[in-house]
Amino acid sequence: MPATVIVGAQWGDEGKGKITDILAEDAAVVVRYQGGSNAGHTVVVNGEEFKLHLIPSGILHEKTTCIMAAGTIIDPISLRDEVEGLRERGISCENLLISENAHVIMPYHRLLDGLQEEARGRHSIGTTRRGIGPTYTDKTARMPQSIRMVDLLDDDVLRERIEAQLAQKNIIIREVYGHDPVDPMETFDEIAEVLDVVRPFVADVRREIREAMVADANVVLEGAQGTFLDLDYGTYPYVTSSHPVAGGACLGTGVGPTEIDEVVAVVKAYTTRVGSGAFPTELEDETGDQLRERGAEFGTTTGRPRRCGWLDGVALRTAAELNGATRIAITKLDVLDELETVRIATEYEINGERHERMPENLDLLAHARPIYEEMPGWQQSVTGAQSRSDLPDEALAYIERMSELAGCEVWCVSVGPARDQTIRY
Ligand code: GDP
Repeated sequence: MPATVIVGAQWGDEGKGKITDILAEDAAVVVRYQGGSNAGHTVVVNGEEFKLHLIPSGILHEKTTCIMAAGTIIDPISLRDEVEGLRERGISCENLLISENAHVIMPYHRLLDGLQEEARGRHSIGTTRRGIGPTYTDKTARMPQSIRMVDLLDDDVLRERIEAQLAQKNIIIREVYGHDPVDPMETFDEIAEVLDVVRPFVADVRREIREAMVADANVVLEGAQGTFLDLDYGTYPYVTSSHPVAGGACLGTGVGPTEIDEVVAVVKAYTTRVGSGAFPTELEDETGDQLRERGAEFGTTTGRPRRCGWLDGVALRTAAELNGATRIAITKLDVLDELETVRIATEYEINGERHERMPENLDLLAHARPIYEEMPGWQQSVTGAQSRSDLPDEALAYIERMSELAGCEVWCVSVGPARDQTIRY
């Protein structure tokens, strides 16, 4: 089977890491197609918790080749830390490859991210301050001095690029933000320290992906963040700087759209969101607190508490369409276990009009009033369920409603963080 895309159907943190880990078991290759170390995936294997920020979740399967494709951006220092952390726990990372064309997040990109965010004041967009925005900005600005992974292979090229970049960036750092300039030699030394670890991963990954496709092996293309954080289709400007939607998998990896035969949209049984921006089904009450506590909704990368709310069926319907989803993977059903009733927003009312899909005009979204359907809760634990028949009728009805709203079949339902807490549908 050729390629399967895994995409988050909400605002990220849907549990894509766990679903990718499961699919990776039968995959020859798992490829991350966008984003950088701002993503946080938590995967639990045999009771051991692994927090991954940059490296694809498939890394825990040694037989699976894990690739960071051209659409991703790489912070070499975070990469070194993550690789060393995994090696200490017995994961060799020998199966990791990084595209020569992936752009590099430099320490000055991180600095600029923080300075820009502070300068936005009350209009801050809640970035993770990991340098993602400034790095993608340099990439699209087509700066001849931009640093890509291939440039890390040659000390002289790297030194020259850093000097050229900082000659420009220091003007901005000093004149616009009033911050001390960054020393090019110190920056070079900082990066030089991690090169021994990073260099062996740099490869022509398109060839690797192509070979796997030609051999008819399973290829999983893994998105980070989620649909509504997409630069074009998300809730701009509270979005990420890349394209998490399934179309981004083609751009980020060089796999053509006709070669993708499954798009699995991962959707949490309720909604969460980190940072600012519209969130029509947000619950700022005890139920919201309960979801946050039971779902442990605190960022993997930043530790920030996530905003929580009911499942947004309008967003789900829209996400399924934007991604061309062929199946949904439902996660965290167990978090709703104790609720007497559960709600799903099936439409929005905006200025007296009903909307079944998210409006493109985000000013309208800010005024959306969700129209809810209420369903009985199951009020029992589903964490031990191994098959559909172990699930209470109320939970089955909830899953069915999610499937209807997405307009596609359910691929699996996750009832806990562990691998074996997954019901294949
Ligand atoms: P990702 O970035 O989309 O992979 O999501 P995160 O890793 O940020 O968040 C998912 C979190 O939920 C992780 O801590 C997972 O271990 C956990 N998780 C995944 N599936 C389930 C589930 O079905 N139930 C519960 N309770 N936790 C889950």
